Amino acid sequence: MKITKVEAIPVRQKTNIALINDSAQDGIIIKVYTDEGITGYGEVDSAPWVVKSIIESPSSHRICQGLGEMIIGENPFDIEAIWNKMYVGSTFYGRRGVVIHAMSGLDIALWDIVGKALNKPIYQLLGGAQRDKVRAYASTLMPYTPEEAYAETKKWVDHGYTAIKLGWGGFEQGNREIVELVKASRAAAGSSVDLLFDLGFIPSDDHPIDAASRRQLIKELEPYQPYWIEEPLYPDDYDGYRKLADSTHIRIAGGENETTFFGFRELIEKGGVDVVQPDVTRCGGLTEAKKIAQFAQAHHVTCVPHAWSSGIVVAASLHLVTAIPNGSLLEYCVAETPIRQELLQSDVSVVDGYAKITDKPGLGIELNEEALEKYRCDR
Ligand code: MG
Repeated sequence: MKITKVEAIPVRQKTNIALINDSAQDGIIIKVYTDEGITGYGEVDSAPWVVKSIIESPSSHRICQGLGEMIIGENPFDIEAIWNKMYVGSTFYGRRGVVIHAMSGLDIALWDIVGKALNKPIYQLLGGAQRDKVRAYASTLMPYTPEEAYAETKKWVDHGYTAIKLGWGGFEQGNREIVELVKASRAAAGSSVDLLFDLGFIPSDDHPIDAASRRQLIKELEPYQPYWIEEPLYPDDYDGYRKLADSTHIRIAGGENETTFFGFRELIEKGGVDVVQPDVTRCGGLTEAKKIAQFAQAHHVTCVPHAWSSGIVVAASLHLVTAIPNGSLLEYCVAETPIRQELLQSDVSVVDGYAKITDKPGLGIELNEEALEKYRCDR
């Protein structure tokens, strides 16, 4: 089998993009075609038009090549070799960041092709199922007032979720407001629901983003029993992460902005985080995510992939979590954007707070081509 064509299709919701932290407002869908009629799907949660350029760019020289050119003509079964070819062939301008993001989308599409060719779901290719269902956490933005935080939390408890994450949004206001929002959320959830809080790293006058300020804040949040505190610091502040992790019994989570095994090695060894969150559409795809999860496992660290875009990243993450022993939760983005809600013919289904694992081949998804055309935004 040979790869014949690669398509990178930016999508964008029709209404204005708001500068909130909702990366499901736009996206880029990847299609990889083969000479045997099998098409693989992938996605990248990054800057869509930058990713498109990296995939479609003509090659410059040996270690400065466009990703698309590098993989056309390759056998999609050679996933690991293709990954290394792209990594080495883009060394001059890649190694981390958006080039790895772009590679991730192509890598996911290759796994989809191989699964379809073998008539097996991806989790079986990754080593098989460690569990028959995965607890999903409803992932949503934190509103700006305690009353709204209460209502938002209650809404997802009533939907049957036993774990809920609220992040960014209202957390930008300041430490006093953060404590009040968390308190309201806990009041709505009762004691038996796990609440995850994503602080993000938006500085304000009363809370600089450093370990000392965050240590003080987390101390104030401890009475409300957060299951984890996510990204309390800038991604490069590994020393700060270590200080925080050593100072509280609350789990510290991070890694959605990290790419490659090398990045996660820093976060785990230097940062000492309790939970790593590789985004399979950014960290280097399923190929790299599996290595990251294994490295985390060797350090007794839990791996819960970050997933906040279309249903493709949710499906790919579900395959990964199903197959890794140190996976525990699936991030289930409940944002009501068209990119999140409409691009697939059917989404991963969550029943009573658990995601159902599919036995369909590959990713087990079908694109809604009509929606893809509707939101396509080539610019
Ligand atoms: Mg986050």
